[in-house]
Amino acid sequence: MKTMCITRFITQRLLAVGIGGLLLYPSNLHQAACAQVFKYELVADETSPEDAQLEDESELRARHVRLNSPPPDASLPGARWTFSPFSNRTFDLLVSRLERVGPARIITCEVQGNPGSWFMISQVGDYITAQMHGPGEVGYFLRHTALGDYRIVEQSPHKAKFECAAQTPSAPRQPSFQRLRQIGKSGGGGSHIVKLMVYFSWNVTYYYGSDGAAASAIYLAVSQANSALANSAITPSGSYSFDLVQALRWSYNDSGNYFTDLENFVNQQAGLQGTLSYADSVGADLLQLWVKQPVTGGAAYVSTPGNLQRFSVITVGSAFAPRFGTAHELGHNCGLHHNYEDSPKWQTGANGFYSLDMSPNNPDFSDLMSGRSSGPILQLFSNPNVTYLGVPVGSTDPAKPANAAAALGASFPFMSAIR
Ligand SMILES: [Zn+2]
Repeated sequence: MKTMCITRFITQRLLAVGIGGLLLYPSNLHQAACAQVFKYELVADETSPEDAQLEDESELRARHVRLNSPPPDASLPGARWTFSPFSNRTFDLLVSRLERVGPARIITCEVQGNPGSWFMISQVGDYITAQMHGPGEVGYFLRHTALGDYRIVEQSPHKAKFECAAQTPSAPRQPSFQRLRQIGKSGGGGSHIVKLMVYFSWNVTYYYGSDGAAASAIYLAVSQANSALANSAITPSGSYSFDLVQALRWSYNDSGNYFTDLENFVNQQAGLQGTLSYADSVGADLLQLWVKQPVTGGAAYVSTPGNLQRFSVITVGSAFAPRFGTAHELGHNCGLHHNYEDSPKWQTGANGFYSLDMSPNNPDFSDLMSGRSSGPILQLFSNPNVTYLGVPVGSTDPAKPANAAAALGASFPFMSAIR
């Protein structure tokens, strides 16, 4: 198996070197003008000093990036592009959505001929993170490693299992929760916004090459979480979103264990002192810490109605599609557990915020809160009223209910009232 992986790596590397990389540019004449001002051109590099640090044998280094001034927002919706990660792979893209969140500009494209697939670019200043993803398909991740330098990652949809430590504390971890419980309000319609403060460690800055590149990645992940909320048809109906107040590098060195990082975060120690008070000062409800460690995964405390939890940790290797770890950990903060089989505690929390996803079935898939991943992970939270391939993505079975959408509808008014 190891030999196969190495062979595949070498084949891909030679292929990338041979054809000279990746191009992303508008594909029709109508957008020809944009091609002059909005062009990404990447050429794969043969070797690099960083190769010894590669953790994924399919990860390829790319360089020679040129990025000029982007076109006005108004010219983007409906624009067509092509994405060519390799000489034998070209995808036609149709720009479907443009978001501006703080300093970030997020462009989402439909991948033509691949229903349910998308291509996203998050731009913060000169820094861009991009990703193409489709359920059950190979995806591509493009990350900044330094100004003018990118790395492209070919992603298997069924990589190693996502490890996540979801904990339900027996007592409040922050005195401020006592105050918070008194200002919870009932849900129903309207706009429900949970404000989010994201910190990232020095290791994350090193991994992405700069604070700006890390921020562009973080905005991309939060945008993916918001798409998951929108896909979930949360009840009561309304607009549900995580509003990223700020992505800020904190002077913190990863502990090497994301659960230890979470403990340091919650207890405001080991270099994370001040993160809570700063988050409060900018009106954030939830706090998430990004770290870069040899393992993938994340950790979060799970809220209950009387004990709201604000802290989560995610590793960069798990934050995005196909794992949707950022959304996963925020889901824990909002009261969600893993699937029934992996969350026996659920049985004692039927009156709380607990929820769970559906277990693998036929067709085999799961929602993003699942602890299992034998099939595609859908970009949504479980809801028995939403279907995938004709099968409900949830359950109304009273013995094993899976309705995270309803649980989020119940918890969001509380979580959004923390600030
Ligand atoms: Zn989890």
